[in-house]
Amino acid sequence: MSQTSSFYIKQSAEQFDAIVVGSGITGGWAAKEMCERGLRTLMVERGRPVEHRSDYIGEGVDEWNLPNRGLVDEKLAADQFAEQRKCYAFDDHTKHFFNNDRDMPYSTPEGKPFSWIRGNQLGGKSLMWARQSYRWSDLDFEANAKDGHGVDWPIRYADLESWYGHVERHVGISGAKENLAVLPDSEFLPPFEFNAVEAAMKKKFDASFAPARMIMGRCAHLTKPNEKHLEMGRGSCMARSMCHRGCSFGAYFSTQSSTLPAAAATGRLSVATNAIVHSVLYDAKTNRATGVRVIDAETMETREFYAKVVFLCASTLGSTQVLLNSTSEAFPTGLGNSSGVLGHYLMDHLFGAGASGRVEGYENDYYSGRRPTAPYIPRFRNVTDQHPGFLRGYALAGAAGREGWAQQGNKPGFGKDYKAMIRKPGPWHFGLHGQGEMLPRYENMVSLHPTKKDKWGMPQLHIDCTYSANDDKMREDMADTAANILESLGVKDVQKSIRTTEQWAPGLSIHEMGTARMGRDPKTSMLNGYNQAHDVPNLFVTDGASMCSSAWQNPSLTFMALTVRACAYAAEQLKLGKL
Ligand SMILES: Cc1cc2nc3c(=O)[nH]c(=O)nc-3n(C[C@H](O)[C@H](O)[C@H](O)COP(=O)(O)OP(=O)(O)OC[C@H]3O[C@@H](n4cnc5c(N)ncnc54)[C@H](O)[C@@H]3O)c2cc1C
Ligand code: SF4
Repeated sequence: MSQTSSFYIKQSAEQFDAIVVGSGITGGWAAKEMCERGLRTLMVERGRPVEHRSDYIGEGVDEWNLPNRGLVDEKLAADQFAEQRKCYAFDDHTKHFFNNDRDMPYSTPEGKPFSWIRGNQLGGKSLMWARQSYRWSDLDFEANAKDGHGVDWPIRYADLESWYGHVERHVGISGAKENLAVLPDSEFLPPFEFNAVEAAMKKKFDASFAPARMIMGRCAHLTKPNEKHLEMGRGSCMARSMCHRGCSFGAYFSTQSSTLPAAAATGRLSVATNAIVHSVLYDAKTNRATGVRVIDAETMETREFYAKVVFLCASTLGSTQVLLNSTSEAFPTGLGNSSGVLGHYLMDHLFGAGASGRVEGYENDYYSGRRPTAPYIPRFRNVTDQHPGFLRGYALAGAAGREGWAQQGNKPGFGKDYKAMIRKPGPWHFGLHGQGEMLPRYENMVSLHPTKKDKWGMPQLHIDCTYSANDDKMREDMADTAANILESLGVKDVQKSIRTTEQWAPGLSIHEMGTARMGRDPKTSMLNGYNQAHDVPNLFVTDGASMCSSAWQNPSLTFMALTVRACAYAAEQLKLGKL
């Protein structure tokens, strides 16, 4: 019997304590927290069930055993994965974890591309994420208030600090303590190691650019599992770096490896898969959400599920799509949208700019094995001073690698000489690439398309998002600064690169945030400081939709901390009879 099959349901007349929409990173956490707080919880997921281990069909499959050596058949990719194929993690080992664009289309205005990368299945994008995990600091939570872009966050770092710790102890975050003000330390498992070139670069960088520092990327991997991780069936990371295919060791954090088994262990979890939430049910008399209406993805039947509290965790744009589609006399433009901000202030991160070059002098140094993370330079721009060209800041991430047989195998050649050539390691390269903060802007928005629907009859999202002048200037600075750093570290033949919008459209950084933001004032925000809808007290949105700004760090750790904090609050309010 599968690990999870006992809790799958198709329909139920029961009034659950909580319904959680979505089963990805935030939905998994909401289900775990609510179940562990004694609440009968139903997780509703639009996609198919994915079993830990047995459904990781690309894991351990070598390229030479695949028909196109890992590449997805061109016709299939063009017909069904036109957007998803742009994601670096999309290949023949992983394609089954990516959304089918033909079945789930969306529209964009002419000349304003947006890449909406999705993982619509049990586990959501937790199966394919890159696991980079960083806390935010007050530099981030205070940014909107300081420069006036976006609404002030209703919380500060101190409100989230203990919840970060709560999440990290369960997830397992590998990293080193650095005592940096811009990047608070997590509760860490041991860090991964720098290779020889990176170690030399770090030494030079830390000496030349202090107080900026090069650190090892912090990631959700069990470098040294504790008792609890082992009890849950999770094992040590073997640094195979094939994580996007799914990991049977449970060595990286995903819903399947971590939150779902914990929720299931309580005996209080039910899961409805292939259940597309069409809208949230709302009772105007009590001003409460009463449950959700779903469309059966396989039969197209509609049905309803009921609960005392509803958590939307369907990903930033998934949750907003459901809210926009939940209309009533009281809320004609979407549930809880008396402020009119629902759908607005969409953000992503700024990627696609950096520099790289060749490193000489380490020809006798080699490394074996792989590593599922990379060196990282936390934000140094606009921390104490102010760049004249742009607001906010960015991190630089990169790595040193040496051309091995895999890269050299692509070079032309033949026979004995060719084999001899690819046995010899090639030159070392070192590169740095930015990840920057995108300003929250009202005009970056999503709405429901007035006529276009998907094959289940759900109105399609219309996504209208562009980079601003601030975003463009920051990306220029990322490339210039990366090049200057590399040159000062002695890297040769440094080449800068900045991708165009066509090459790297908004969305492709896969860190969508905003569209149902938090805030203190119900007139200018959807949610309060506990991710609770100002207008409808038993409705919570805890995924990236709730974010007031994007900061520069990968956001999922913060989504998790917000989710567990909101769950603790909702559970307490339920006990007090206030919801
Ligand atoms: C290749 C890749 C690399 C990434 N790397 C990082 C990283 O290093 N660090 C980081 O912080 N983040 C990273 N991310 C982003 C990260 O995956 C997301 O931030 C995170 O998964 C968001 O969690 P979520 O729960 O909001 O959404 P998801 O994990 O996407 O889960 C949402 C779930 O809701 C379901 N759903 C949607 N609509 C409905 C509906 N109407 N009814 C029912 N169910 C619905 C979906 O099917 C899905 O299962 C990466 C993403 C990708 C794809
Ligand atoms: S690097 Fe670690 S988490 Fe990733 S697939 Fe290998 S063992 Fe699993």
